[in-house]
Amino acid sequence: MIIAKVLINTSVKSLNKVYDYIVSEELLNDIQIGKRVSVSFGRGKNVEEGIVVKLLEETQEEVEKKGYKLKEILEVLDEVSYVDEERLKLAKYISYLYFCNVYDALKLMFPPGTASKNSSKSVHTKQDTQVVLIKSPDEIMQDIENNVIKSAKHIQLLTFLIYNDYVLTSDIIDGLGISRAVINTVVKNGYIQLKKVEKEVDLLKDYHVERTYAKTPTPEQKEVINKIGSYIYDEKYRQCLIFGVTGSGKTEVYLQLIEKVLNQGKKAIVLVPEISLTYQTVTRFLSRFGNNVAILHSKMTIAKRKEEYKRIKQGKVDIVIGARSAIFAPIDDLGLVIIDEEHDSSYYSQTTPKYSTKDIAAYICKTKDAVLVLGSATPEIITYNKAKNGVIDLFEMKTRPGVAILPKIELIDMRQERVMGNTSVLSSALKEEIKKNIENHEQTMIFLNRRGYTSYLSCKDCGYVFKCPNCDVSMTYHKTNNLLLCHYCSHVEKNISTCPQCESDHISSGVIGTQKLEEELQEIYSNISILRMDADTTVARDSHQKILDKFKSENINVLVGTQMISKGHDIANVTLVGILGVDALLSLNDYTASEKAFSNIYQVAGRAGRAELPGRVLIQTNDTANYILNSIEENDYEKFFDSEIEYRKTFGYPPFLDIVLFELIGGDFKTVREEAEKLYYILIQESSNEYRVFSPKSPYIQKLNNRYRVNIIMKTKLNTQIYNKIYEKIGIFNSRKKKNVSLCVSKNPTFIN
Ligand code: ADP
Ligand code: ZN
Ligand code: ZN
Repeated sequence: MIIAKVLINTSVKSLNKVYDYIVSEELLNDIQIGKRVSVSFGRGKNVEEGIVVKLLEETQEEVEKKGYKLKEILEVLDEVSYVDEERLKLAKYISYLYFCNVYDALKLMFPPGTASKNSSKSVHTKQDTQVVLIKSPDEIMQDIENNVIKSAKHIQLLTFLIYNDYVLTSDIIDGLGISRAVINTVVKNGYIQLKKVEKEVDLLKDYHVERTYAKTPTPEQKEVINKIGSYIYDEKYRQCLIFGVTGSGKTEVYLQLIEKVLNQGKKAIVLVPEISLTYQTVTRFLSRFGNNVAILHSKMTIAKRKEEYKRIKQGKVDIVIGARSAIFAPIDDLGLVIIDEEHDSSYYSQTTPKYSTKDIAAYICKTKDAVLVLGSATPEIITYNKAKNGVIDLFEMKTRPGVAILPKIELIDMRQERVMGNTSVLSSALKEEIKKNIENHEQTMIFLNRRGYTSYLSCKDCGYVFKCPNCDVSMTYHKTNNLLLCHYCSHVEKNISTCPQCESDHISSGVIGTQKLEEELQEIYSNISILRMDADTTVARDSHQKILDKFKSENINVLVGTQMISKGHDIANVTLVGILGVDALLSLNDYTASEKAFSNIYQVAGRAGRAELPGRVLIQTNDTANYILNSIEENDYEKFFDSEIEYRKTFGYPPFLDIVLFELIGGDFKTVREEAEKLYYILIQESSNEYRVFSPKSPYIQKLNNRYRVNIIMKTKLNTQIYNKIYEKIGIFNSRKKKNVSLCVSKNPTFIN
């Protein structure tokens, strides 16, 4: 008879085991490796979902010898199998590398909307609701400070909205674990509003783009295309970084590389950050390759995504474009994977499995003898480090095609402005330049950073930011008990009232609002036309694009916006970019903060002077000596890299050391704390100098969805031996662990809170 080995979908880590089930006659035709099945599992009558990982023929005798009675598979759930032996192997690799269940890794490869039975979280509604702030960040911060807003959940929800621009209720419920009831209370209290939005984004709907043809490459482009083209021709694994300044024509290079891979009879996956997966980006690929492209976007309806998945699986398209998860698209004959804007943090998954897309892409390309191309104007430090050390190939593109040149960047000292009596959020230099631009009918963009506010503390007079003496990252400010905490080593400072540098008592974490800025501009200039792009003005699904179109076609003077304005558009008449509120970016409390700040600010600066007219960029700051800003000012990535890599080396961060985060989660704080102590002692037992474990500590948000969390951090250089050791210790802990506490382990989390 046929026996199926089934991996059960369970959150219990120790159950990463497979169980035997009998395949009955009537299921023989349907059963296949990689299909999901339902089986009864355990002593009770629980019906669980599982996946078939092996099929084998066994005699009645062999089955009887097992000493227990085998159950039958109840039902085959999938029509098509999306998981073959190779993908099973990939899932096991992911599970090992990122400390997760094999089943969790397999879920990445299931077609969209394959909701697991036990998870109510993956139920999707047709219509979505956007959550919009109706009070300014200023007012909210004040209310938090004055204890008007007390509930930790309310604070969490509101600060999340301050940092993030397009937030749906589902993001809050699934992502933050905040209930609908809590959202409704905050609505009632007058802080937020709910707006219905269409869930669906159909990037193909208006598909009537003109066909375009390859441009004659510039000498720089030609060299890259020829060289990487020869790798594609060789059909051997190779990883390349295209380090090209903004607007240097990287996308054109991608397009011509794809042409080469198609000529080779092979296929390509193109990954872009979720935020730049816009009609504009997609159009560039559609106009070159037409219907040969499938798009995977998380805001498309599940039905639509399923359809695309099917087209890919059936071999109907040769090119897949999508965000992070598109790396798992069921594509055969893969010859090329392109990861555009490879520095973007969306390539790190923030939910289990917390994987790095670039690492997975490298693994896949290796197994398929495919070429992996990463592209960026501001590569991630670990990527560029590999390129410099010859681990991956480096290609540089230093000029823009045609006459466009890089913009001139200048830092404006806001401390000086205050000394001169200027209390406005705009410096006098920026005011002057805006005036010139209005007179010359040239356009201006003003970027207002809101990310990172409220979680740090700084001196308004001298710009000093409170940093941890041990780790050289800025400490997180806990408002409720007025203390600063380091996320890495648990160093605490209490009752902060004066600046250690200048003894001023002007210490704060303030937020500038887009609306306030708009009003101020109206006041200063008569007859100015202004558009604003932030969470409030981009409720409708295509409003983002509409605002940009209007800005461009009506030659509007100024566009004011949050991080939304930083990506992926090319407006020839924008010659001035003002960047405000960057100080918060310079001091986020994790080791990747600096590189995020660098790329973020540098990318915004790159919006100026994209065509004939030269551009200028003014960056307002309290910290004109900051090395990040100085490197940006000099258009010098290399300079930034050199100091950053030195810092990582000195303080033991990736790529020199890895960080392993152990999160303990449970409903009772005392128990979680005790279990954390237990794990801590297991981890430090017979510890060698190969790793260092820091004592347990509570994260910034201690209580999430009524569950408490305590973190333990380990610094080490991960290798097989260390992995084995960690798994051994996790095993010991799991065997002694209390049931109502769970452990979640992640590797090099880019954000620890
Ligand atoms: P990047 O992806 O590096 O930001 P793009 O590929 O978007 O750069 O190119 C910037 C601009 O230059 C685009 O308008 C593009 O059409 C144009 N461009 C790129 N390559 C060429 C070329 N070889 N000849 C003429 N124009 C080009
Ligand atoms: Zn000071
Ligand atoms: Zn520290």
